[in-house]
Amino acid sequence: SEAGGKRRRVLLKLSGEVFGGGKVGLDTATVRNIAEQIAATVGEVEVAIVVGGGNFFRGAELSQAGMDRSRADYMGMLGTVMNCLALQDFLEQAGVDTRVQSAISMAQVAEAYIPRRAIRHMEKDRVVIFGAGAGLPYFSTDTVAAQRALEVGADVVLMAKSGVDGVYTADPKTNPDAELIENLTYDEALQRNLRVMDQTAMTMCKDNKLEMMVFGMEGEGNVTRAIKGERMGTRVTV
Ligand code: UDP
Repeated sequence: SEAGGKRRRVLLKLSGEVFGGGKVGLDTATVRNIAEQIAATVGEVEVAIVVGGGNFFRGAELSQAGMDRSRADYMGMLGTVMNCLALQDFLEQAGVDTRVQSAISMAQVAEAYIPRRAIRHMEKDRVVIFGAGAGLPYFSTDTVAAQRALEVGADVVLMAKSGVDGVYTADPKTNPDAELIENLTYDEALQRNLRVMDQTAMTMCKDNKLEMMVFGMEGEGNVTRAIKGERMGTRVTV
């Protein structure tokens, strides 16, 4: 697994919703399950993960409630780091070496974000967990997923979804005629305003020809299969 190896490298985006199971705080059973599924791919695939934080705070919501937007966004970013530490713990319990890299310096709990070092970790079969978003207010962790994937040279961004297994023509929870779209271009997604990831993130993927797959994390072994390259859910390309 050393120099010259052309292993598959993926950037997995896990939203706060995945961590919280739709509630505030941590759904530890789910985090453990995801960690075990990731562990099953280590050695075969190089895995980096961008972690969301919506299960703790979303800056836009706190700002709606009257807080200063930037301060609220920093709270949102700090929330992602708690998710990172939880995921790190369950991955280590599953026998995986991990590093958390934070975009906001907090040396006691995480390394700094150093892209070349992140690549080196992956080459050594360590799973790298990116926390604190971009370290910048007004950004989202979706955008960070696209940016980190590009900077560490991932082959694909894998968007793990909770409660839905891909992109649909309409909301499958309310519309029985909604159909799964298996192949989508970024232009279509942007024009039809399909909620794949936010628009900034999609534009970044489009401009840099980065492939994305949106899949449901709930099925048995889905996370493992997605990381290993199985075609699932919706594939989004240029
Ligand atoms: N955030 C930010 N800059 C970033 C990434 C995140 O300000 O680069 C803040 C923002 O307030 C956001 C919160 O962190 O609402 C949690 O991230 P996000 O909403 O993207 O998490 P997810 O939707 O994936 O749970």
